[in-house]
Amino acid sequence: MSKSIQIAVVGSGYVGLVAAACFAEMGHRVICVDNDERKVAALENGDTLIHEDHLPELLARYRGDGVSFTTDLAEATRESEAIFIAVGTPQSESGDADLSYVEAVACEVARSITGYKVIVEKSTVPVYTNEWICRAIERHGIDRSQFDVVSNPEFLREGTAVADFLHPDRIVVGADSERAADILEAIYSPLTTGEYYQRPDAIPGVCSTAAPPPLLLTSTKSAEIIKHASNAFLALKISFINAVSNLCETAGADVEQVARGMGLDSRIGPRFLRPGIGYGGSCFPKDVAAFRSVAEQLGVDFGLLTEVERINAQQKKRFLSKIRSALWTLRGKRLGVLGLAFKGGTDDIRESPAIDLIRMLLAEGCHISAFDPAAVRRAIEVMPEGPALEYADDAYSAARNADALVIFTDWNEFANLDLERLGKTLRYPIIIDGRNLYEPQAMAEQGFTYLSVGRATSYPVRQPAAAVST
Ligand code: NAD
Repeated sequence: MSKSIQIAVVGSGYVGLVAAACFAEMGHRVICVDNDERKVAALENGDTLIHEDHLPELLARYRGDGVSFTTDLAEATRESEAIFIAVGTPQSESGDADLSYVEAVACEVARSITGYKVIVEKSTVPVYTNEWICRAIERHGIDRSQFDVVSNPEFLREGTAVADFLHPDRIVVGADSERAADILEAIYSPLTTGEYYQRPDAIPGVCSTAAPPPLLLTSTKSAEIIKHASNAFLALKISFINAVSNLCETAGADVEQVARGMGLDSRIGPRFLRPGIGYGGSCFPKDVAAFRSVAEQLGVDFGLLTEVERINAQQKKRFLSKIRSALWTLRGKRLGVLGLAFKGGTDDIRESPAIDLIRMLLAEGCHISAFDPAAVRRAIEVMPEGPALEYADDAYSAARNADALVIFTDWNEFANLDLERLGKTLRYPIIIDGRNLYEPQAMAEQGFTYLSVGRATSYPVRQPAAAVST
């Protein structure tokens, strides 16, 4: 039976909240800290704040009995053996990670240290952050024997965050002290021993008692680099296939066939070889920039990362040109837009290519009716409704009387639309799909002009259904 450990998780966002709920699910006692009073009050009142499968049920199970919420970091520090820092590390103007939130937490923790504590970097931070945190704490007069700082990067994906946390490919612990490593190993032991997966009510996923996740023990610097290098590599895969998709378009090949042919090579693998409108989200853009910036500061030439970013920015512009090519001119055109989140399964719109493209289309004079299954509430905060922009209640309302339908986000429900109904709802049966959710031939047979990424445009093979305004 694994030991229950008292943990503080600082930052109740996508990572912190999921980590807190999952640590409780693993049998630990968790104090979840945030300096946003409204967030803490909402969490205490039963709100989940973010859209993630299994999160509502876990928070309902442990709220007040395993997980508590507070704004009081000092008290949470005093009461906890391990303090996980999961605050934001946004991109600064120069591309560096802005570590001021991490520093603020480290200093406040330092002011409240009473006995030995393990301070855990869960936020994504550049190499050497561990040393800076140690220095900041020592400056508060805390002796080195009173604390250790370890790196435990998080690899969860939004949309499947809870399952990813409890069924990780690997758990990376960068620790330069045995004492700290032992505590982290104890925290994760319900997963690494397979004990958790024996439970009948365990959240389902890929790990099992027979195949538990490995825990990789490394130096702190290696762990910090593992996280940045992993995200940069995934972004590189996306930019690579996007560049290949442009080549396919010009050569008259089909990027889906090419990606499949590449992905079946076990050395390459099929994941993250999905062409589209570029990567976005709160991690890849800032992590690639931060990794590039770290390389520059260390005097290492890593120009490959600059190219990854360039291709990504270009991909959005190419898609805008594609929309224009379908409609001739954009001014005054009505577009139905499907997707606001940066990917399907989440309500996160941070650095979403969909939001960037909507802004570009509005600047070109389009009228937009946009729908997303989860992200409308967040989108309204940054792009309020106005004369040229409205939010629809479903995909068909967004398509009503539109000159074309544009797909920006790979939600499952957008891949399963009632095409006959859609054809009758649109003014013109034109679909411009930034996520390749449909087969060009099938769309042509359904009467659509269909443009996608890295594949030839397909045209109706029969008369389109009479355009009826509904
Ligand atoms: P987020 O913005 O959703 O949450 C951060 C939270 O920290 C906010 O609720 C904020 O109020 C709180 N906070 C800020 N300063 C604080 C302070 N001084 N005291 C207490 N709370 C404070 O961010 P996120 O998406 O959860 O990301 C957190 C970190 O994890 C980042 O470094 C990110 O790169 C990394 N990460 C994110 C993901 C992801 O998919 N979102 C995945 C892996 C790693």
